[in-house]
Amino acid sequence: MNPIRAIRGMNDILPQDSYLWQHLEAVVRELLDAYGYREIRLPIVEQTQLFSRAIGEVTDIVEKEMYSFEDRNGDSLTLRPEGTAGCVRAFNQHGMTGTQQKLWYAGPMFRHERPQLGRQRQFHQVGAEVLGTASADVEAELIVLSARLWRLLGLDGAVTLELNSLGGNEDRARYRAALVAYLSERRDELDEDSQRRLDGNPLRILDSKSEQTQALLAAAPSLREFLDQESREHFEQLTQLLDAAGISYRLNPRLVRGLDYYNRTVFEWVTDALGAQGTVCAGGRYDGLVEQLGGKPTPAAGFAMGLERLVLLMQELKVAPPESSQADVYLVAVGEGAAVAGFAIGETLRDSLPGLRLQVHTGGGSFKSQMKKADRSGAQLALVLGENELAERTVGFKPLRGGDQRSVSQDALADELKHFFAHEEH
Ligand code: ATP
Ligand code: MG
Repeated sequence: MNPIRAIRGMNDILPQDSYLWQHLEAVVRELLDAYGYREIRLPIVEQTQLFSRAIGEVTDIVEKEMYSFEDRNGDSLTLRPEGTAGCVRAFNQHGMTGTQQKLWYAGPMFRHERPQLGRQRQFHQVGAEVLGTASADVEAELIVLSARLWRLLGLDGAVTLELNSLGGNEDRARYRAALVAYLSERRDELDEDSQRRLDGNPLRILDSKSEQTQALLAAAPSLREFLDQESREHFEQLTQLLDAAGISYRLNPRLVRGLDYYNRTVFEWVTDALGAQGTVCAGGRYDGLVEQLGGKPTPAAGFAMGLERLVLLMQELKVAPPESSQADVYLVAVGEGAAVAGFAIGETLRDSLPGLRLQVHTGGGSFKSQMKKADRSGAQLALVLGENELAERTVGFKPLRGGDQRSVSQDALADELKHFFAHEEH
């Protein structure tokens, strides 16, 4: 029979990598907590219309990337492709309006894309959202927070910030009309994808990968000229705060993002160390979304970062911390009586030394084979139990990284371990 394999683009994260994920997640969580963000845990499945309404009908995600299905009641459900829509849905549903909410979430997202390095069908994001505040210090905080994260992870040399303002809805509508007018006259020169977008989602043409299309765009009207006074001031306030915080950025008038809900600020942290999948974190302001999903008008902004790409980047730059050993202490017990006694001693030690990373050998075998396992575990110390030790109520105390073996009474074992590791730490 053929062995069953995982679904294409949905990867296992194996122990040799999961420690790195845990490190990344712990650093992110601590940082968000330090800035006053609180975790919100959201369902992985939502009604399909949540995403089509929030992200936009004519976006890549909604048009061709969603995992949608009918459940047994005939309702159309979708595996979440991103976290903001669900976050805003929850915000509305639980009446969280009125005070500012600083929230974060983490977990798997699903998009039916062509799998490649840094692009999966199940991938993981950490996102932060601030709801209820209109001023640009919110975006500034989201950006300095992420910049601090890159420093904590050792990635700060490899990522740069790109920044743009999309203006308000009216600015964008006027710009959109101007862009469509300009590009329609040159329709035949556009790449195929951009021709299709010209009718549905023309702003997306700005980040087309086609060189010919980019050449056409060089002389196209620029979004910046269409920004109203307030949007200009908002953007200025943001850049002032970033300058004051010493954050450098590149103004990128072509940065539009693939989700319809953004207005004013959009930003991306990008790297050139991961090939085509260069964006590790992306976000912006989305003042209309809460109302669009049926809530009270509420300004908001947020970002989401892709954890796979951050893990890859840490590995690529060799800034990943080394994996720690699997144990501090490995208990070897040879013979049936010793195995029973060793099992009990293990539990007693765990009682008196909580947090001790102790592996008690399972599965029997010779002294030699058990010692091999002890060594491979990376433990500093082996505890050895055989017939003699059993009779004398002692344990062989055997440092594995230098030092002589000695015999220790079973009653004094916990104290001896405490001493041993107190010295080890120096
Ligand atoms: P891209 O242009 O790479 O497709 P996107 O604009 O679709 O990205 P967002 O929806 O803004 O991405 O998601 C935020 C972040 O989540 C991205 O910057 C990226 O780091 C990560 N991400 C998005 N899609 C995937 C995916 N299929 N696999 C892995 N990471 C992803
Ligand atoms: Mg995408």
